[in-house]
Parts: sequence; C-alpha cells; structure tokens
Amino acid sequence: MSASDEPIHVIDPEGEVIIYLRRPDRPFAPWDYNGNRGAGSPTEVLTSSPAVENTESNNSVDEVYSIDSSRGQVGRDSGPQTVRAAKHVEKRCHRIQVSAKQLKLLSPVFKEALSCLLASGVGVEITTGPFDLEPFLLLMKIFHCQPQNFPQRVSLEVLAQLAVMADHYQCRAWIQFFADRWIRDMDPGFPTAYCRDAMLWVWVSWFFKLPAEFEKSTALVVDQSDRLVTRLGLPIPAVVIDLINRTRSLAIYRMIEQMNLRRDYFLTGARGCSYECSSIMLGALTRNMHAIDLYPEQPGDPYTGMSRNKLIEKVRSFTVSRYCSTSRVQHKCGMKPFPEIIKKAGAVKGIDLDMFKLG
Ligand SMILES: [Zn+2]
Repeated sequence: MSASDEPIHVIDPEGEVIIYLRRPDRPFAPWDYNGNRGAGSPTEVLTSSPAVENTESNNSVDEVYSIDSSRGQVGRDSGPQTVRAAKHVEKRCHRIQVSAKQLKLLSPVFKEALSCLLASGVGVEITTGPFDLEPFLLLMKIFHCQPQNFPQRVSLEVLAQLAVMADHYQCRAWIQFFADRWIRDMDPGFPTAYCRDAMLWVWVSWFFKLPAEFEKSTALVVDQSDRLVTRLGLPIPAVVIDLINRTRSLAIYRMIEQMNLRRDYFLTGARGCSYECSSIMLGALTRNMHAIDLYPEQPGDPYTGMSRNKLIEKVRSFTVSRYCSTSRVQHKCGMKPFPEIIKKAGAVKGIDLDMFKLG
C-alpha cells in the first residue's frame, strides 16, 4: 500500500504541511546484549561517538517539497535523495497534516527546513524520521498545544522515543513540562536488573535532567552489567557512556584488589592470630578465588563476563572451615576476612548528573 492510500493523521485540519514520516526499519534501541552485535564489541565501542551514531538522525529532515512544484526538491541535492524519497513515500511512510507555524515556533530544525518555502503560501511536504508513529503524533500534539489529546500516562518506551525526537528537533524545553508530569505519574516498576529498560532510564533521566533517576539507573548499570555498556543507538553522549564504563571497571577492580590484598596479608602473616591461622586462611582464600577463575590469572578491563554484583554473591559464598589446633581446641579467633572484602571494596554509587554541568 502506498502512503497516499493510507489515512492521513490530521493534527491541524488547516495545516499546510504534510509530513511523510518514515517507518523505522529496525527496532528502537535494540537490546543486543546476547546478539551478534553484542554490546561491548570493539566495533560498537569504536563507533560510539555522537558524530558517527547520529548521522541518521541528523538527516531526518532532509527532504522538503513544495506541493505544487512537481516534487522539485528545494535546498538539497537532487538525484539519489529524490529517488530515495520516492521510495519512502510509496512504501514506508505515514502521512500527518500539521501547521507550519507551530513547527517553526517550537523547533529550530523545522524552522530552518521550512524557512525558504512558505513565503509563497503554498503547501509543503516534508519527509522525516524514521520514528514510530505513536510518539511522533504525541510530539505533534505537543507542538500544536493539544493537551486534551494527551494520554494520562505514557510508557517508558514512548517517553524514550519522545526524548530522541525532542533531541533531534531541538525542542527539549517544550517537551520537558509534559515529560515531568508523565514521569511523575509513571507506573512503578523501575528495573531491578540490568536490562534494556535500565538503559532507557539512563537516556530519559539524562535528557530530561532527572538527578535521582539518573543516579539510580547508572548505579544499577554499573553494578550489574557484565560487559562494556553501549548506548543501544540512543543519543546518550559518549562521555556519559565512558564514565559509566570506567565506574563499572573500577568497582570490579576494587573487589579483586581487596581479595589480592587479603591474600598478601595472609601470605606474609600480617593477618591471622597464628601461623596456622594465616596459612589456612591463605589456602581457603586462594582456593575460593581459584574456583571463580581469579587465581592464578586474573581478567583485566573490561572484565567481560564479570559484574560487581555477581562477584559479591560469589564472595558471600566463600567458605573457610574451622580447624582445630594441636591442643585440639577449636580455633576461634573471630576473623571474618571474606565479608571484609565486600566492605572494603565499598558500595556502588550511581553517577551524579551535576558532574556533567558545563563550566
Ligand atoms: Zn585465627
């Protein structure tokens, strides 16, 4: 079915702009955690700079036509793009009727795209996207001040997509007011495990400047990710992802460091109430570390396959048998070296949004 066969979504019946919204050809923020394009793969890391990943987004408003100009492209190169646009219009677009004035008022991106076309008063077609229809229509209703048509609640998914669009069309301030309300009324259910929703929260809380949610979501990711964190195609700045990864690596490093320190203490006799005590503790800790592949070799950054919270679980299960001295009195020096590993490694903390304040 071609786009012209589909019902048009009318936001403003007198609107002189028809938006052809490209349908996404891939899922939004795909969770490739176990997929071929695994999170943390070198390719993903190398291509994680905003300039590379946002190429598609930056071209979103790249085709603008005057309706009565026989699809003559204005302000852009013709040729391949025109052919591509025709394909989108035929197969992969939604149509939305909107007001040019509202688009220009709320978004400098639309303002620039439309600036040279509307003086003559003719209608205009814009091809944009790819974005999902539901959040895009919501964005257009916000643009056209139609709160009576807003949903009471929106899902994290829609909110995350709305944030991506607000980022692209440079209109965060207009969206922020409504986003704050939707976030306040959002059903409880903050994730408790590292998952796609956790990364959507990192993105949403970063974009809408929500310090508590940002700290909570980054703490979860830092604590539970068992590989390098990637941004799933979301426009989270590379500096944020880098800091999450560095914090995660440091948290794991501190756990391993505390185990190594305690091994050294027992080896040199710096800890333990007697030669027998420190020898047995040394043996027990070494065997426990060996059982979880931390002895004799140890992995290094980025600690793929290892997470801080799993390490803690394993340390909690470390065992040391009580033993009897030569006088057959049970040893009771009360030392608890394994819980001390966790305590000394310190609690995991999320990232403070204020760290990224300019100046
Ligand atoms: Zn002892």
